[in-house]
Amino acid sequence: MWFFNSPQIVFGEGALTHLAQIRGARAYIIADPQMTTFGFVERVRAQLAEANIETRVFDQVEAEPSLATVRHGAALLREFEPDWIVGLGGGSPIDAAKAMWALYERPDLAPDGISPLEYLGLGKKARLITISTTSGTGAEVTWGIVLTDPNEKRKLGVGSRETLATLAIVDPQFVMQMPPRLTADTGLDALTHAIEGYAANWHNDFADGLCLKAVDLVFNFLPRAYANGDDAEAREKMHNAAAIAGLGFINSMCTLAHAMGHALGGAFHVPHGRCVSLFLPYTMEFAANAGNYRYADLARFIGLVAPDEARATRNLIAAVRDLETQLGSNTSIASLGIARADFAAALETLCDHAENDTQIVAAPRQPDRAELRRLFECAFAGQPVTF
Ligand SMILES: [Zn+2]
Repeated sequence: MWFFNSPQIVFGEGALTHLAQIRGARAYIIADPQMTTFGFVERVRAQLAEANIETRVFDQVEAEPSLATVRHGAALLREFEPDWIVGLGGGSPIDAAKAMWALYERPDLAPDGISPLEYLGLGKKARLITISTTSGTGAEVTWGIVLTDPNEKRKLGVGSRETLATLAIVDPQFVMQMPPRLTADTGLDALTHAIEGYAANWHNDFADGLCLKAVDLVFNFLPRAYANGDDAEAREKMHNAAAIAGLGFINSMCTLAHAMGHALGGAFHVPHGRCVSLFLPYTMEFAANAGNYRYADLARFIGLVAPDEARATRNLIAAVRDLETQLGSNTSIASLGIARADFAAALETLCDHAENDTQIVAAPRQPDRAELRRLFECAFAGQPVTF
């Protein structure tokens, strides 16, 4: 038995106007300060006003939202009693909105009680709308939540199938202004979701098609969106790709590149998408060296011709590296400006964190401790994985 979960998704040009047709009385918009500066909050409020929905705004979600922010937001929700909660922004405000919603409905819960093992009974007071303003995390269609506990300097991965939006708005108007670096980082995150979601041990018939399509969209449109931010078609396709990849991996699993990327990002404060995509080709080589050739399906789907599965897999790995280079992204840890001594001092902690990351469980090939150490070493120096 397996599950497939998805919000209703309204996508494409003009998707935001769908908000003018929803029914409700009060909506709380959860965002970060930039959403107000860019005028995005006002665009959302205008549509909700047409639906005669009263709105309030909390636009103080920080990058990597803290437990305190989430608790504060939930208290604001309890005061206003909204029947809609709108998460607007990149992954951080959307994740914060999911957690605030859960705590609003279940004041008895602590944030780390938002677990797949717990029946939450959400939806009695409010429902969630997500509006993504980057093309990468897939947070608008996934139920996972990443919070930060600044006291213990740790990241908390929580969430349950219930912390899933009822409605996700995937409207390209919100991503037209993304600068090239953010376009590349977030787009490569989407690529990593799609490739890992396809190769994961938990792959399944429902998620596979989504992952295939997302990989194809990223290879075709990310270089265009990066080179020319005004390319409306590329922006729209990448916005769709991120949501499609999100649906793919959340109904399968991300794997080793995410486990290693989370570890590196936590230790050295490197953006999520850059970290996970950096590790992607190394972890693909590691799986392929043990004869895992599911990657060959992806290679064929994007038109990389090869006489056999092994060579098709190698072609895909080379294509990932080429794309990263083309986008000016980092293909080694050293190229991030991290000194060898600092890397060496952190290596055992990096291995600890990667081993304890939930994403590692579905890796197509599980590394033991020595292999994990060697994988980090290869990624530091930019050397191919030969074991
Ligand atoms: Zn990711």
